[in-house]
This record gives sequence, structure tokens and C-alpha cells, in this order.
Amino acid sequence: MPPPSPIEFTFGATTAGRARLGRLATAHGSIDTPQFMPVGTQATVKSLSPDDLHAAGAQMILGNTYHLNLRPTAERIARLGGLHRFMAWDGPILTDSGGFQVFSLAALRRVDDDGVTFTSHLDGSTHRLTPERAMEIQALLGSDVAMAFDQLVDPGLPRAEVADAMARTHRWAERSLAGRGRPDQAVFGIVQGGVDPALRRESVAAVAALPFDGIAIGGLSVGESKADMAATLDVVAEGLGDDARPRYLMGVGSPLDFFAAVERGIDLFDCVLPTRVARTGQVWTDAGRLNLRNAAVLDDPAPIDATCACEACRTFSRAYLAHLFRARELLGYRLATLHNVTWTLELMRRLRASLLEGTFHTLRSDISKSFARMDEEVS
Ligand SMILES: [Zn+2]
Repeated sequence: MPPPSPIEFTFGATTAGRARLGRLATAHGSIDTPQFMPVGTQATVKSLSPDDLHAAGAQMILGNTYHLNLRPTAERIARLGGLHRFMAWDGPILTDSGGFQVFSLAALRRVDDDGVTFTSHLDGSTHRLTPERAMEIQALLGSDVAMAFDQLVDPGLPRAEVADAMARTHRWAERSLAGRGRPDQAVFGIVQGGVDPALRRESVAAVAALPFDGIAIGGLSVGESKADMAATLDVVAEGLGDDARPRYLMGVGSPLDFFAAVERGIDLFDCVLPTRVARTGQVWTDAGRLNLRNAAVLDDPAPIDATCACEACRTFSRAYLAHLFRARELLGYRLATLHNVTWTLELMRRLRASLLEGTFHTLRSDISKSFARMDEEVS
């Protein structure tokens, strides 16, 4: 018998396909689902304070095991009271396992069945991550939800290589569960298998059979087409059937993808996209995206979005923000980030309300008109 889950997930079905409207209770509070988690890679959502995050409506955030363990190290964060206290965020935190960054960021790496040896992108020093060490690091950080250690592969690789990484991910899933470090921390398993339907089916069956507290879908939003992503999510949804655990789509954060994934039963999202594009001057509104570096904005006295309640929109004009970006002033990065996080979380709130009111397709159609072109450009 597995121990009782440290999280509690309740949800109801809706009229929008497989969409679920729910609530996830963790040791640091409850969140409404579907929900988006802003990414705090280095124990900070870049340029935002915890007060900013609360004002933006953030309920749960994500921290990165790979980055935090290289600097300042998990042991140091544990000595300082854990990640919640270290970064002064009192809400729920999910940590990834480091797998994605090892395979996307580390300069040199060698994979064997036991784990991965890699070279730090910071100083070239050599490190090793195994499922056991990834779980130990996440226990030291003290997140509410830890992720199993997985092997990411480019879905465009030969099928045999994708299948090999998937099989290794399944073996590592069992070791991650065996290595779970604390009873108050939930552990989610990760489904891999690229965009091959048969492999995805096999991976869903293998991961769902294990006593994880939640199921994540990895290996998407890595360059595949929108059609491949949707078809893969359909395969996963069919494989999971009426499985009552929370479902988390990793690395997806563009407005139209939210609708496509929620309709296929996804409850949780994370992505650097809203914060990353903000730092280039790109802000999101119901009318689509706006680039604050465009010359046309230099004389525009209107706020980014007149309906948005964030500090940037309540206080400043587009013209002022355009000036800040041209002058590379730090306040510009913070205000654009605050706006995009606020707008994205407000979109999720409206999405949840639409599920309750039966207006999901109307909201989706409205957002699609403004964002279809953007999704093509940034995907
Ligand atoms: Zn705003």
C-alpha cells in the first residue's frame, strides 16, 4: 500500500471536451485548476518579488532543480530553511527534476542507465544526476510537488532512440518513487515517447500504473507541430481514461495551447514564454501581442491594456514603457513581466469561469482571433 498522498485533487467534468475544473490542495495552500505556474528558474520569477506575484494572481510557481543545485546548491537552500523561506514565497512550489535542463542546457553529457554525467553551463565543472539524487535535491528544496527524473529526447530522432529513452524514463520513474525523500512532498511521474502514438500509449500505461500523485506529459513544445501536440495529448487522454490524478503539461504557455490542452484534460501548465518575451518588449493583450519597441508606440498615451489591473497598466502609458525599453531601464523589464504574468493568470481565471458558465468555445474563439498569428510566429 502506498502512503496517503500529500496532495488532494478534486475536480468536476465540464461540457468542453475532457476539460476538468478542479482544486489541488498542497501543504502550502490550494490552487484552482486549470492553472498556470510562472517559472522561477533561479528562485525568482525574473524581476518580480513575491508581492508582485501575489498581486498578479499567482497561486503556484515552479523552481528549477538543475539551476538551484548548481547555484546556490540544494544543501545551502536546505540550511537556510528550504526554498519557500529562501525566496520568501509562501505558496505552493513545484520543482522539476533537472532532466530537461541537463538535456537542453548542459554543455557535455553522458547518459548511462544509472544517470547522467554533465558539465555545468556556468563554470564547466562536472556533475552527476541520477533519479535518487534528483529526488534528494528536491527533498532538500522542500517543494510541494517533485518531479520524477526523466530523459528528454528530440522527437525528431530515430524511433529506436526515442523508445530507448522512454524505456529508461520508465525505469527511472520507479527509482524516483523509491527515492522520494519526504512524506509531505507529492511526486509526479512523466510520460515520454515523442510524437509516436504507440510509444506514447506504452508510456502512459507504464507511468499511470505507478503510485505517483500526479501525471505529467513531457517532451512536448520542443519544436513539434501544433497538430502533433494535439494528437499526442489525445493519445495520453485516452490512455489515462478516468484517472483522477492531476495532469500537468510541461513547458506549454502560449494562449492558444492552453485551450487545446485544457480541452484534452490538462490541469496544470508552466512555461517561460510569458516572462521571456516580456523582457524583449513583447506584451500580451486581448487584441494580441504588442511590441513595445515599435516606433508606433512612442507617442501612445494609452496603457498596455485598459482592462488590466496590473501596476504597469494602472500607472503608465505605452509611450513611457517604450521609452524604458529603448533606454534599457530595469523598470521596463519588471513592468512588462508583471503585465504578461498578470494577463496570463487572468486568462486562466477567465478560462476556468468559461468552463463553469459553458462559454469555453466563445472565449477560445475570441482569443484565437488575436493570437493565431502570434502562435505561429513564436512556436
Ligand atoms: Zn497590465
